Amino acid sequence: MNRITARKVAFNIHALKSARRTLCCSSGVKLPSEDRDQELSDKHGSHTNHPVHDVAIVGGGMVGMALACSLANTPLTKKLSVAIIDSNPALLSGDVIKKEDPPDPRVSTVTPATIALFKDMGAWKYVEEHRHAYFDKMQVWDYTGLGYTKYNARDINKEVLGCVVENKVLHRSLLSGLQNADSEQKIYHFKLNSMTTQPSSSSTPHGSLAKLELSDGHSLYAKLVVGADGSKSRVKELAGITSTGWKYSQNAIICTVQHTQENFCAWQRFLPNGPIALLPIGDNFSNIVWTMSPDESSNRKSMSELEFVEELNRALDSGYGPRPKSQLSGAPPFSWLTNSDRTASSADDLFEAAPKITKLASERMVFPLSLNHANRYASKRVAIIGDAAHTVHPLAGQGVNMGFGDAFSLSKVISQGIAVGSDIGELSLLKRYESERKPANVTMMAILDGFQKAYSIDFGPLNVLRAAAFQGAHYISPLKKNIISYASGEQRFPLFS
Ligand SMILES: Cc1cc2nc3c(=O)[nH]c(=O)nc-3n(C[C@H](O)[C@H](O)[C@H](O)COP(=O)(O)OP(=O)(O)OC[C@H]3O[C@@H](n4cnc5c(N)ncnc54)[C@H](O)[C@@H]3O)c2cc1C
Repeated sequence: MNRITARKVAFNIHALKSARRTLCCSSGVKLPSEDRDQELSDKHGSHTNHPVHDVAIVGGGMVGMALACSLANTPLTKKLSVAIIDSNPALLSGDVIKKEDPPDPRVSTVTPATIALFKDMGAWKYVEEHRHAYFDKMQVWDYTGLGYTKYNARDINKEVLGCVVENKVLHRSLLSGLQNADSEQKIYHFKLNSMTTQPSSSSTPHGSLAKLELSDGHSLYAKLVVGADGSKSRVKELAGITSTGWKYSQNAIICTVQHTQENFCAWQRFLPNGPIALLPIGDNFSNIVWTMSPDESSNRKSMSELEFVEELNRALDSGYGPRPKSQLSGAPPFSWLTNSDRTASSADDLFEAAPKITKLASERMVFPLSLNHANRYASKRVAIIGDAAHTVHPLAGQGVNMGFGDAFSLSKVISQGIAVGSDIGELSLLKRYESERKPANVTMMAILDGFQKAYSIDFGPLNVLRAAAFQGAHYISPLKKNIISYASGEQRFPLFS
């Protein structure tokens, strides 16, 4: 080993040791001892500098950690040797998340399906101990004042429609799920630089395993490499997986705001240049996700707090157009469909004004928006999940929920492979994951893209059609139930049943 490599390896071990110290104290993820490296390497006839893992997860964001947590909590996969490769400081941070701090503006609306999966892995308890906000009502309307829809969890006999949680709390909850599992995960606090999925047998002692090279010059081997490394996925690129997509020429401003009373409803108003959402996040705080043109976003990011709060209140009330009128009495529209058992129970819910914002409680962050979809989710020894496989418009808060769906589906397929003694990097096995998730994700993406397009046009007849769609969704029970069930993460299409 030359001097440069020796120094890099020493640094790597140092990073791992400090990671071990930090994580043992904070999240408590058990990092394997160096004996385990020796054991793994001996098993595969190598030396300690080239560890061998069953699964290497590149990207320890929310989706990569969900896969790690699911593998660690499933009987057939809990004994797998799993590497998590990511230089993200959140994986090492021992900071305590304090409930009294104002919420971070990066939040996700998680669906009941995601909540159930987190509960199965023992990760939801951590969320419940930290700031989160369940909501059972949602009001959607547009600036024309022609119509509105109110959704209520009681329409589908459920208690909640979803829960808004800070991304850092979701991430830490998955670390806590790992900590409590009897499994072995190793965190490499580096980036992936390069990957060879079909090394020639002369260049590697590990035959057909994938070889990963990290940013410190260190290498490791894995039977399966999972790209959970976000929208600019290096794994996708190195595996030669192409994708299709476009930019929306829209940006989203996100921030935390404060109002005088607690909010229990998710509000969304469609404006000429994109939707604005006000999502409860607990106490008197809410989160804003406001889509607009790039020029508007740079103006609004730099304007004074006072002006920005005024703009927010206008955007959520009667700026751009009047409030819709509540249907108070008389026959509702669509009366041909609305006999008692076809009318949604929330059809009598009146239009309400969103809570008035009094204060900005965080910085304003701007994100460019795009749609992107990988043409394949798997190749030999490689699978991609989460934003590495698809990015969507945030208007319905589905992006990370789709990613969690991928993580749990892949975990299930790996388990099935182990049950029958398959090589978990075999393409035929990984294709099962792709055929389960691709149709579900494509459907969701088509719906979100359709919404984005339908609400980007200000044109008289289309405005009336949109209003009719709001009214239909407000009154017609089967349609409303299907929309809520689909958005909650059930795999049914939003059509009449
Ligand atoms: C404004 C906005 C609002 C949103 N709101 C919602 C919502 O309400 N609900 C919802 O479901 N979704 C929402 N989303 C989408 C959601 O945030 C994403 O889908 C989610 O963060 C994707 O998670 P991920 O783990 O796949 O990727 P990421 O969060 O991008 O994580 C990728 C990880 O990979 C690591 N990485 C990258 N490259 C490498 C490399 N070469 N080597 C090693 N590691 C690497 C990074 O450090 C990072 O930790 C929103 C998105 C935006 C922009």
